[in-house]
This record gives sequence, C-alpha cells and structure tokens, in this order.
Amino acid sequence: KNINNTFGHIAGDRMLRTVADRLMSCLRTSDTVAHYAGDTFKILLAEISKEEHAAKVAQILLKNIEEPLIFEGQELFVTASIGISLYPADGEDAATLMKHADLALHRVKDKGRNNYQFFTPAMNERALHRQKLENNLRKTMRDQGFELFFQPQFDSRTHDLVGAEALIRCQDPERGLVSPGEYILLAEGEYILLAEETDLILPLGEWVLRNACGHIMSWKNLKPGLSRGAVNLSPRQFRQRNLLEMIEGILLETGLPPEMLEIEITESAIMENVDLTVDVLRALRKKGISVALDDFGTGHSSLSNLKRFPVDTLKIDRSFVAELATDRGNRAIVAAMTGMAHDLNLKVVAEGVETTEQEEILVDMGCDILQGFLLGRPMPAEQFASFAARQVG
Ligand code: C2E
Ligand code: CA
Ligand code: CA
Repeated sequence: KNINNTFGHIAGDRMLRTVADRLMSCLRTSDTVAHYAGDTFKILLAEISKEEHAAKVAQILLKNIEEPLIFEGQELFVTASIGISLYPADGEDAATLMKHADLALHRVKDKGRNNYQFFTPAMNERALHRQKLENNLRKTMRDQGFELFFQPQFDSRTHDLVGAEALIRCQDPERGLVSPGEYILLAEGEYILLAEETDLILPLGEWVLRNACGHIMSWKNLKPGLSRGAVNLSPRQFRQRNLLEMIEGILLETGLPPEMLEIEITESAIMENVDLTVDVLRALRKKGISVALDDFGTGHSSLSNLKRFPVDTLKIDRSFVAELATDRGNRAIVAAMTGMAHDLNLKVVAEGVETTEQEEILVDMGCDILQGFLLGRPMPAEQFASFAARQVG
C-alpha cells in the first residue's frame, strides 16, 4: 500500500512480481504459490515431513523478501509476515487450514510483523472469545443496553461541584451493568478497544456524545457552578471525517452551549496522528468546546508536548495520584506537571483521588479540580442529578 501510494501502481505491481519470483525461487517444483489477494500470497508446501522444515522455509522466504528492490534508481523495501498451519493436525480441509494459517498470520502482525508463526489451538479460542465479545457488543448496541454514568468533579479549594465525566456502562447478560474496566476478562477499557477495531466505536461514540450532551444540558439550571461535562473520545473517532459536523449537530440538537462541553483525549491518541488530531482539537476549541488531555504521564511523550497540543486541561493519571502519599519521587513529578501546566495556563484535574491524604497533597500543590472515589463514584444520570441538587454552596 505504501509503495503504491508513494511510487504509483507500476512500482506496486513490480514489487508483487518480484516477491512472487523470490517466493518461487525458494520453493520446490512440487510446492504451489498463489497470489491470493492484494498483498497476500498462499503457499502450499507438499511433502513436508517435519514441522521444522516449514519453519526453515519460512525463514528463507523472509530473508529473501527483505532484499531491496531497485525501482527507478530507488531502493524499495518490504517485509513479510507468515502464518503456518499443518495438515492434518491443524485442519483436514483447505478452508480450515487457510483459516488457521490466517489466525497465525494475524498473531504475527499483532506482535510486530516480519516474522512467522505456527497456528496453535489457543489462537482459535482467542478468536472465538473475541467473536463472542463482538457479538455481545453488537447485540448490546442493538438492544440499547449501554448507559452513561457520571462521576462528579470538584473545585479543590471551594469544594464546589463544577462538572462531571461521562463514563460508559454496558449491560452484560450475566452480570448486569459493567464498566469498561470490568468487562468479561478484558483489561481496562478493552471493550472500547474492541469497539475501535470493529469500528463499532463510531456509532457508539456518537451515542455517547448525544446522550451525554442531553444530560449535561439538563444540569443547566440544576446547580450554579456546575458548568461542564466531559466526554471521552477514542482515537478512532478523530479519524472520522465528519467528527466536527457530528459534534456541531449534536450541540444544535440538544441546545447545549459549547462552553459546557469538554472533550477528553489521551496523549497517546494524539500521538497516533499528531497533525490531524491537533487540527481537529483546534477546530473544537475555536467553537468554544474545551479539551482535556487524559491519562497524562502514562504515554511515552514528554512534558514538552504540553506546549504543542491545543488543550485547556491536564488530567493527571490516577497511577500518579495513587502513590502520592507513599512515594516522594512521584510527588515531585506531580508537582512538576502541575507547575508546568499552570505556567501554560492549563487547568489541572487529578483523577482517582481515593484518600484524604491524597486530597490534601493535591490541594497543597495547587491542583485545580479533584475527581475520585473519595469524592464521588460514577453514578447513573438521575442519581447524579439528585447528588448535584443536594450539594450545598
Ligand atoms: P478514564 O477516562 O481514565 O476514566 C476514568 C476511570 O477511572 C473510570 O473507569 C472510573 O470509573 C475510574 N475511576 C474514577 N475514580 C476512581 C478512583 O478513585 N479509583 C479508581 N481505582 N478508579 C477510579 P471506567 O469507567 O472503567 O473506564 C475505563 C476507561 O474506559 C476510561 O478511562 C476511558 O478510557 C474508557 N471509557 C469509558 N467511557 C468511555 C466512553 O464513553 N467513550 C470512550 N471512548 N472511552 C470510554
Ligand atoms: Ca477520561
Ligand atoms: Ca483518565
């Protein structure tokens, strides 16, 4: 794909032919090579007596394909990923063998490409598990089994309720409402990841925005000072072409003033495609929507990114907050982040505040807004409304 895009289709075709020639030169006449689709080839090794022979062939193929191709004086490089299944252990018919080789191939790609891998039955279980989750996700979407919870955020000095973060909850057939962190044997946020891989995130993300904006609008006269609701956006949504129009449309529909909406995006999500994301963030802020940088400190980027990214708020990741009281090094890091953010005119939110000790340290450091189980857990929208109404001040 890269070669096609950069050097044109003639170079792409030449590359495919060269790869085909190289594949054939490594094989015996009793073997079969087929160009299957796009950049995929299938190879049938006949008369293999040992697994190691297939591995050996795979190594030779990888090495040969790596050799650069000269095109119009330029050196072009490609690498290959190879999945292997064995007859009859991994399948007794062509369809099963190809399916299993494909699963092994995906595994290679997940692990960083330019390698080979034999199929294992565990891959099948993984694939089945994912399939089950995906079906679950689609079914939940169809049955409108998602719900938004809201977690309150407080001004660290006045203790006033100033906003809330919308967090999705999913109806699980066996366990009732679960958070992304709890969803069936998956790591935190992983159903969001699954939704991303399957593109379900686009309709799901739109639903979250529409629903959240509706609720935030309903707080308008609920409590003075409760002025903003935050919504998490996933990186995939920033690659959606009509994201801005979609958000604008939802604001119009719900009547929510843009100033009452905050978008949360992680540092690593921005890093996936800095130019595009920064453009979208600028456009959002131009409309009056504010932007928070989520999970700050967990990515691989540096404090200097803060200057580059058009954001209003910095959310210090809860892993830093968790160790505030026990780890002095950590305290120094949080203090540095807070100071730097303030120098750049950003507000600082600490998330995951669980103890009064952490709270005190954060207040001392001048952290602006606090969020965490100590002050309020994520709760259903109606409960949040009565929670807000009960707040004094
Ligand atoms: P996040 O954006 O960092 O959300 C904060 C997570 O920390 C939430 O987990 C929240 O329940 C949890 N939390 C809040 N206070 C505390 C505390 O004091 N202690 C501890 N231990 N945890 C606390 P949750 O709801 O499981 O969400 C996990 C992740 O899933 C979120 O992390 C976010 O990345 C993603 N997510 C949740 N809702 C949405 C959504 O609507 N859209 C998108 N794209 N992602 C979402
Ligand atoms: Ca968040
Ligand atoms: Ca976070």
